[in-house]
Amino acid sequence: MQTNFSAAQLADPAMASSEAVIRKCVHCGFCTATCPTYVLLGDELDSPRGRIYLMKEMLETQAKPTAELVKHVDRCLSCLSCMTTCPSGVNYMHLVDHGRAYIEQNYRRPLRERLIRALLAHVLPHRGRFRMALRLARLGRPFAGLLARSAALKPLAKMLALAPRRLSAAISVRPAPAAGGIRVAILEGCAEPVLRPEIRAATVRLLGRMGCEIVTVPGEGCCGALVHHLGREQDGLDAARRNVDAWMRQIEGDGLEAILVTASGCGTTIKDYGFMLRNDPAYAERAAKVASLTCDISEFVTRRGLPKAEPQSLIVAYHAACSLQHGQKVTSGPSDLLKAAGFTVRIPAESHLCCGSAGTYNILQSEIADRLRDRKVDNIERLAPDVIATGNIGCLTQIASGSAVPVVHIVELIDWATGGQVPAALGSVAAVRADVDAIR
Ligand code: SF4
Ligand code: SF4
Repeated sequence: MQTNFSAAQLADPAMASSEAVIRKCVHCGFCTATCPTYVLLGDELDSPRGRIYLMKEMLETQAKPTAELVKHVDRCLSCLSCMTTCPSGVNYMHLVDHGRAYIEQNYRRPLRERLIRALLAHVLPHRGRFRMALRLARLGRPFAGLLARSAALKPLAKMLALAPRRLSAAISVRPAPAAGGIRVAILEGCAEPVLRPEIRAATVRLLGRMGCEIVTVPGEGCCGALVHHLGREQDGLDAARRNVDAWMRQIEGDGLEAILVTASGCGTTIKDYGFMLRNDPAYAERAAKVASLTCDISEFVTRRGLPKAEPQSLIVAYHAACSLQHGQKVTSGPSDLLKAAGFTVRIPAESHLCCGSAGTYNILQSEIADRLRDRKVDNIERLAPDVIATGNIGCLTQIASGSAVPVVHIVELIDWATGGQVPAALGSVAAVRADVDAIR
């Protein structure tokens, strides 16, 4: 795409980076076919190509964003399916991240939007606040129907609907000390340990069985993805710097061979820390080091080898999180691991399409998110699975809100198959299957 940025504009590194991205786009439109919002809405401005054009105009003219432009950028899920499809290597992620930060700085949203977005940014990334908010949600749930009738209060109704009815108690699992084993850290993050502490517990057990030494790194926290995607650039960078400081203390101290992530949405952002902090001389190199050590738990288990597993007779529908398949290009690895662990794995149709979770998207754009979820659940349930497995807490929560089939993280299944516990969400299903197997 031809661009018309001035030399002064291109002196800004963020602008120069976006210009390079825009120039790579050749208007071919291949990406439109795999963009969930274009597939649903059929509007060119809700396609990657349309959004690239809108953002080019906005950045080139440095005009105040219009409400219409913001609507189409807000509707983007950041699912990155367009990056998988694009034959020209357009880094849409970096462009839309810049576009969102520009909108945040130059557009005044209506008051209710500002309040909801501030609420999300100040609660979700903090484990204690998030846990408290979920407890309060129980009191608010009876009013969810009433709130949903008002367009302005719909996001609040959606938050109440998505809040789990029961919170699992925090689980403390101490790995057996593995002297001489590979030393790893597991990102604890923010939402996952509150919503599903069983995922970390299963990961710790599995890694212990693999002979890993797991270190707890003081000072790490939310990866910053949530605020970054809301356009709150400085908040996202602050979170990245805090985590880089925490992990580098460990790397430069006793050493660390990998930073493992069980929520793929977080993994995509941490792997991008090198780019996010590229213009900060105090952090650029250290952020790139952290990014290079970061890997999804499925990548790590694939690399190190699965411990001995007992065949399981469950049918698993594997839902590939967008952040894993499009953001990190981890494609067949997780389903191959499930197969190697003895499960029968089925992949739903349209597996490249987003389930509608996308960070806070299912709260802020609930109508599109619900349509995507229902389409995803239809495709999954056609496979008649015993269980749905995925690699991201956001997808897990979103799909579970539309299906009666139990939804678990793949690590919970792999831990179980290699000698760990039956995933709590699967208790009765596993028992019934075991009885059937015994009768056979
Ligand atoms: S990130 Fe996803 S929703 Fe956004 S333009 Fe690309 S394919 Fe479409
Ligand atoms: S596929 Fe790539 S090059 Fe083609 S229109 Fe989409 S972003 Fe541009």
